[in-house]
Parts: sequence; structure tokens; C-alpha cells
Amino acid sequence: MDRVNITIIGAGVIGLAIAAELSVDFDDILVIERHDDFGRQTSSRNSEVIHSGIYYPTGSLKAELCVEGAPMLYRYCQDHGIAHRRIGKLIVATQESEIQQLEELYRRGRLNGVRDMVFLEADEVARMEGNVNAVRALYSPNTGIIDSHGLMKRLFTVAQGRGVTFSFNEEVISIEHEADGYVVGIKSDDYRFLSNVVINAAGLCSDAIAAMVGIEIDPAGYRLHHCKGSYFSYSRRSPVERLIYPVPEKDLKGLGVHATLDLGGRLRFGPDTEYVDDIDYTVDVSKRDRFYEGACKIIRGIDKDALVADMAGVRPKIKGEGVKDFVIEHEDRRGLYGFINLVGIESPGLTASLAISSRVRKIVDCISIAKKV
Ligand SMILES: Cc1cc2nc3c(=O)[nH]c(=O)nc-3n(C[C@H](O)[C@H](O)[C@H](O)COP(=O)(O)OP(=O)(O)OC[C@H]3O[C@@H](n4cnc5c(N)ncnc54)[C@H](O)[C@@H]3O)c2cc1C
Repeated sequence: MDRVNITIIGAGVIGLAIAAELSVDFDDILVIERHDDFGRQTSSRNSEVIHSGIYYPTGSLKAELCVEGAPMLYRYCQDHGIAHRRIGKLIVATQESEIQQLEELYRRGRLNGVRDMVFLEADEVARMEGNVNAVRALYSPNTGIIDSHGLMKRLFTVAQGRGVTFSFNEEVISIEHEADGYVVGIKSDDYRFLSNVVINAAGLCSDAIAAMVGIEIDPAGYRLHHCKGSYFSYSRRSPVERLIYPVPEKDLKGLGVHATLDLGGRLRFGPDTEYVDDIDYTVDVSKRDRFYEGACKIIRGIDKDALVADMAGVRPKIKGEGVKDFVIEHEDRRGLYGFINLVGIESPGLTASLAISSRVRKIVDCISIAKKV
């Protein structure tokens, strides 16, 4: 049976970042992706925002890796010529009753290590963004936008240049733990091979991959439920120059219908939150009224006819009450030495991608069966 050193399942931004990071020191790395190219799922269906880390519970991996990951990502963009812009973001209280939530966000952001937030009064917001509805706002100057495809392309090129093998159009369908590693089964031709280390970066299917290796995903707290987020784009000139967010939804289910800009200056509203059983990326045009309402809450003068159903992405949310954290686990305590799970890597996964890959590298550094170059 063929043997590889490290197998990474999934070529989204997380699998790519891990491949690029590990390829510095480790040999014989294989990335398996069921689509015909990298970044065909969640990594190319998101808001492309580099978050600063304000929202997430203090002490969570989401907070820690977002705060650590954002500057790493800005640096990487600069060093590798990846398009990005630090355009800043306003989180707006549109009525007095929301100000307390804004203050809570500020406190949490500070505890998370976000130092640059400032409160703006209504007149200051008006000078900055004449069309925004706000009685008060929290300004985050370091929030930005990134060309996520450009990032993934660069990570792919770097990893490939250092000898990582990418196997596209191949789906992992079984994983068995044996004394000398993991036997990974691939759908096409019933092919099986041995791997010393397996890293599960399978995004929306990461719970299914964890189950394949024998983990009981309900007691482990790994079961995902998929939460679709749809976007409507604005076909007229953007009335704002920064990212505009309302105060977030309860339990951070979503951040509320917000306004994001892409690098071409195109304005989009979304994503909303809708739990789904099947993954289907079509946008329901009948949601236009709700999006219009959400858009008007934060920005004045929106033309309803200019709201056009755009795209959707699906969040790999871990099931259960409250805000769930990223799972980044070496499963040796379950007797699965050399198996690393990344489950529930929803937002801010793009922002945190380089910090996540650096965390995974520290784990792999301690796995004795992972062969170094
Ligand atoms: C609507 C939305 C908005 C978001 N906005 C932001 C944002 O503004 N900023 C931010 O930081 N984050 C954002 N995120 C989160 C971010 O997009 C994700 O955290 C990140 O893309 C996750 O990357 P990934 O590599 O884990 O997953 P994916 O990109 O889904 O990659 C996983 C890959 O695994 C492959 N795979 C699955 N099963 C198998 C198998 N059995 N065999 C082989 N391959 C397999 C899939 O085909 C897929 O390509 C957003 C997410 C959503 C849904």
C-alpha cells in the first residue's frame, strides 16, 4: 500500500494555509480535494472581511486566533502582493436602546486585545459617512477586505512550489486507524493508502470526516448544522465607503444584515442566517423585502429596485446552544495519535487562517511520526 507522511483533507483556505505552513519543514504532504480546484466551497462564498476580533467570547479560539490572525494576514498580503484594503468598519447603534450592546462590544473587544476601537457620536459618524443611520457607533479602523481567491492562489502556489501534492476530484470516503497509521479510502477506483498523519480541514463535512475515523460526534460536540447566508448586491453606486454593521444578533448566530464592500467598490448586503438540511447556494429572491428593511436600518436612501439577489455561502456551525468555538484538536486523547480535527471553522476562519495554520503546525511539530524534511 502506498504511504504518505501527512494527508490534509480539504483545499479551502484552511487546508491551503496548513499545507503552505507545514511544507516549510515537513515532507511528503498530500492535499485531497473533492472538487476540481481549491476554494470551491465556503472559502469563496463569504464576505472577504478581515475582522479585528471584537465579537467573539473572550478566551475563545475564535477571539484569540482572529486577533492574532488579522495582522498576520495583512503582513502576508503585503509581502505577497495580495489585494486588500484596510477600509475600516462602523458598528452602528441605530437607536438609544442599542447603545448598551455597543458598549458591551467595546468592553469585549478590549478584553480580546482589540486596542484601536473608538466610539463616535452621531455628528462624527455623519461627517465620516453621510448616509449612515446612527445615534452612536463603534469604529474599527483596522477592519479590512481581502481578495480571498488571491490569498488561496498564493497559498496554493507556495505549497505546490515546496513539493505538496494536490489531488483534485478525489473524495475521502473512509478512514481506518491501524497500528502504523491511517488507511484513507478514496472514492475513485476504490484506492486506499496509508498516512502517518491526517488533518481534517473538510469544512462543511468536517463532522462527517471525524465520524469516519470512529469519533462519536454528538458526545464530542462536533456535529454541524449548516447555516446558509444569502447576499443581495446593490447595483447602484455605493452610498458608503466603509463596512457598516448593525449591533449583532443574539448568540452571534449572525452579525445582522450588514453592508460590505468588495475591492471593486461594489456594495453587498448580507449574509442573513437560515439553517438548512441541504447545501444549495441559490438565493431566494423573495427575501428582498427583508434585506431592504435590514439595509434601510443602517443606511439611508437605499433604492429597493437596485437590490439584486447575489450569492450565498454556508456556515459550518457546531450544533448546540450559545456561541460555539472552533475545534482544533489533536485527537490523541481519543486514542487517535496523529489525527487532527478542525471542526466548526466558520467566521472568522478566513481572517484567522494563518493563525490557525500556525497552531496546527505547533501540534504537528509534537507528533513524532510526522517526518521532517
Ligand atoms: C456567509 C459567510 C460569510 C463569511 N464571512 C467571513 C468573513 O468576512 N471573514 C472571515 O474571516 N470569515 C468569514 N467566513 C468564514 C470563512 O469563510 C470560513 O471560516 C473559511 O472559508 C473556512 O475554510 P475551510 O477551508 O475550513 O472550508 P472550505 O472552504 O469549505 O473548504 C473545505 C474543503 O473540504 C473539501 N471536502 C469536504 N469533504 C471532503 C472529502 N470527503 N474529501 C475531499 N475533500 C473534501 C470541500 O470540497 C472544501 O473544498 C464566512 C463564512 C460564510 C459562510
